[in-house]
Amino acid sequence: MEQDEKIKAAAQVLAEAKSIVAFTGAGISAESGIPPFRGEGGIWNKYNPEALDIEYYYRHTNESWAIIREVFYDYFNNREVKPNPGHIVLAKWEKEGRLRCVITQNIDDLHTKAGNKTVHEFHGNMSRFVCSKCGAKYPAGEIQITTTPPHCEKCGGLLKPDFIFFGEGIPHEAYYASLEAAENCDAFIIIGTSGQVSPANMIPGIAKQHKAKIIEINMEPSTYTNHITDIYLQGKSGDILPKIDEMMNS
Ligand code: NAD
Repeated sequence: MEQDEKIKAAAQVLAEAKSIVAFTGAGISAESGIPPFRGEGGIWNKYNPEALDIEYYYRHTNESWAIIREVFYDYFNNREVKPNPGHIVLAKWEKEGRLRCVITQNIDDLHTKAGNKTVHEFHGNMSRFVCSKCGAKYPAGEIQITTTPPHCEKCGGLLKPDFIFFGEGIPHEAYYASLEAAENCDAFIIIGTSGQVSPANMIPGIAKQHKAKIIEINMEPSTYTNHITDIYLQGKSGDILPKIDEMMNS
């Protein structure tokens, strides 16, 4: 099938669906200028990923914090990172009542910035900090980012970015809400994820088992493409999602 025909077929599935769930990864944010973590141009080619190991953060806090600060708070804050047309279409679909939720592996807060209200953050969110002692949460904008690791105003405990480090579990609420959404949708769109990060990568298979139609948008085939995907759209999500939206409304 030609790409245009596939886009039309995807638009038809989505237009007829009663409940759509989107499952996103690093690829949806690539057009917002956020580089991947691994592979060509990946952040972890330059830095030691050990900085994001939870035990390492507690034992070698100053060393770890220096890298976290540079990567997540200096690097990103010095760039104009904003939602791209792919994020915007997902927010529009939620507003129109078509999209039930976004399940995201990303930590960049761009779905919420685009306007999505129901976002299950499987790996947490870098725009918040959490106290490792009392659990208090703070918006990152309220934390003074300096060379000294930040501490909790309430109890003095060490703060950490509220995304999951290596060695930490998936936030329970996001985990169970994602399973429930995958089990109860009739169309499921995989966007910009290679499907290599566990346990997030098992969510699309659950939607498939529950008979959802699987649409996939990725630059390259993923672990899903030849196994569970019904309609594979190869290309940039910032191009393809607006095209699908246009066709749904034509
Ligand atoms: P991944 O890097 O393993 O795969 C990215 C996928 O996106 C690839 O399949 C690639 O073909 C595709 N892609 C690249 N550009 C695209 C585009 N413009 N449109 C559509 N698809 C595109 O990413 P992953 O599967 O999300 O796993 C990486 C892990 O690192 C995740 O746990 C994620 O949380 C984390 N991560 C997050 C961010 C972020 O928050 N923005 C950025 C990098 C990595």
